[in-house]
Amino acid sequence: MGRIQVLSDDLANKIAAGEVVERPASVVKELLENSLDAGATDIRVDIEAGGRRLIRIADNGVGMLRDDALLAFERHATSKLRVTKDLFSIATLGFRGEALPSIGSVSRLSLETRSADEQVGSLVEIAGGKIFKYEEAARATGTTVTVRDLFFNVPARRKFLRSEQTELAHIASLVTHYSLAQPEKSFELRHHNSELLCVTPVESPRERVHQIFGSRMLDDLIEIGGAVREIPGAVDEDGETSPAVTYRLGGFVSRPQVQKTNRNSIYLFVNRRLIRDRLLMHALSSAYYNLIPPAAFPFALLFLECGPEEVDVNVHPSKTEVRFKRGTFVHDFVRDAVREALTRNRPVSAVPVRETPQQAAELPFSEFSQRMDAPPAETQMPEAAPFQALPDFDLKPPQSPAPRLDFSAPPLEMAPPMRLKVPDTHAAFPEQALLDAPASMEALRDLRPLGQLQDSFIIAASRDGLWIVDQHVAHERILFEKVLRDRARGGVPVQRMLMPAMLELTAAQLVEYERIAGELAAVGFETEPFGGRTVAVKTAPAAVSAAEAEKLVYEILEIAEGELRRVSLEDLRRGMAASIACRAAIKINMRLDAAKIDWLLEELGKTEYPMSCPHGRPVALRYGIRDILKGFHRI
Ligand code: ADP
Ligand code: MG
Repeated sequence: MGRIQVLSDDLANKIAAGEVVERPASVVKELLENSLDAGATDIRVDIEAGGRRLIRIADNGVGMLRDDALLAFERHATSKLRVTKDLFSIATLGFRGEALPSIGSVSRLSLETRSADEQVGSLVEIAGGKIFKYEEAARATGTTVTVRDLFFNVPARRKFLRSEQTELAHIASLVTHYSLAQPEKSFELRHHNSELLCVTPVESPRERVHQIFGSRMLDDLIEIGGAVREIPGAVDEDGETSPAVTYRLGGFVSRPQVQKTNRNSIYLFVNRRLIRDRLLMHALSSAYYNLIPPAAFPFALLFLECGPEEVDVNVHPSKTEVRFKRGTFVHDFVRDAVREALTRNRPVSAVPVRETPQQAAELPFSEFSQRMDAPPAETQMPEAAPFQALPDFDLKPPQSPAPRLDFSAPPLEMAPPMRLKVPDTHAAFPEQALLDAPASMEALRDLRPLGQLQDSFIIAASRDGLWIVDQHVAHERILFEKVLRDRARGGVPVQRMLMPAMLELTAAQLVEYERIAGELAAVGFETEPFGGRTVAVKTAPAAVSAAEAEKLVYEILEIAEGELRRVSLEDLRRGMAASIACRAAIKINMRLDAAKIDWLLEELGKTEYPMSCPHGRPVALRYGIRDILKGFHRI
């Protein structure tokens, strides 16, 4: 007797469920896609306990015939494919015929449905893969699927589920994404009956963006007005004709001043299917190369449309990845179309940017892919050139008259001028040991300021060389440590806003907000839910301006969302402190008087890690004595 057996359907379904149903959001995704495939124009999603207890999706689509309602739970039963050829031109979101049987094998599922072609509908109940009920039911045309107690019979899976809030955040962001791709449809999402998202049909994606993100967000976006690229039809050597193909790209990308800390705000759709795709990610980052810092991400909502035969969607069980027939072509088309939209709207950059090799645009895609595989997620985008390149040297004499202060409100408490260090008087060159000494943090405590370069960089001397300190980054480091210290002591100085700032949140942001309201308060943001998706911000940390406070809260929510919420509480706190520090720090292109320069260097010397900013950028560059001597051919 052989040892190989054909798996039972039940086991096969559970295996498929392992791939298709990873978490509550994957159930929502499959059911939502089914509703959209069924032509529904009104979709309502109800969730309880982050989807563990209940997921219900009700639609007004075409519904199922009596016989189909049962057949739908057979493995590989689908109405969307008939012959192999269909597999290479899939126009529906689903096609594998796996979702319903898979979900039914790991939950208690009930399906109520009626087709417009029949007078009576059906009710099917299935639990742990076994059908318990199949009977007639009276209902309107359309389908309602209710999934209770997900993974009740797969304890191993249940253990992998994250907190209710995390699972809910995934669901909220998923429904939001789909609603962005389908502006002509209604979507409603409720958690324990409280509304997280509710959008009615609108005529354009622009209006949908407005419904979800508000008008302020729209001001920050540039619309890609339907870019088109065509490949003409051709006849090859064998006489085979290939028809002309057309690619279209529409959507929105953010102006360069909008900089996100993670790629959660990048939504990519191919033929209205939400996907995560490296090729398109890379195209997008190439388009932004030199416009935003290497560690920042844009907001993007891209809709790529092409013939269904141009893209293979059958490469991943959950259909979140695709393979393009003409990868390079698609990459370049998207990059050029986004870049074209950005350059049309390009703001004048205050700081000249230097070209260096090894930039996003030049990084080969293969290398980029490898980086995409490497954790941590935050740093996976390709490196671009430094954002601020050094302009020509023009040192001011140290005794120059105290420059005029041109920032209205000092953004921090300025300490009294420190005593100036007495310059070294010994004429002899430093001993060998000093020549070889690596740049140390100690040296930073001994800096003698010489002047300011381009109102942006402090030039200073120490015993072991010449230093160039980025004033913004240095101040950022000082404030970052201060915020963390103040927070730990429970006393971040706050200011009360004259008028509370009203923030309109997305459904996903609202979920995050509820999770981290306490953390926000701990760093000085006293907030209050204000009905619907609005939150009022009543106080802000004293160091930031009221105008910045609002942006900061959004930024912090984004950190909390972090690469699908792998951010720990500790990271969140550090991220919050880094954001506050960045907003409150003196900027570049700002003249500083001698007292402020002294203060900055002294405070920097006192920090725990004076060498790099909280985002990892260097604070100071050093031109060592050895380099100087070499340069003058003295050694
Ligand atoms: P697939 O979507 O890959 O075809 P599913 O298991 O998700 O496989 O669904 C099986 C079939 O059940 C679908 O092909 C479709 O005919 C039917 N179906 C599922 N959900 C709905 C719905 N909401 N409205 C109408 N028909 C549906
Ligand atoms: Mg499906």
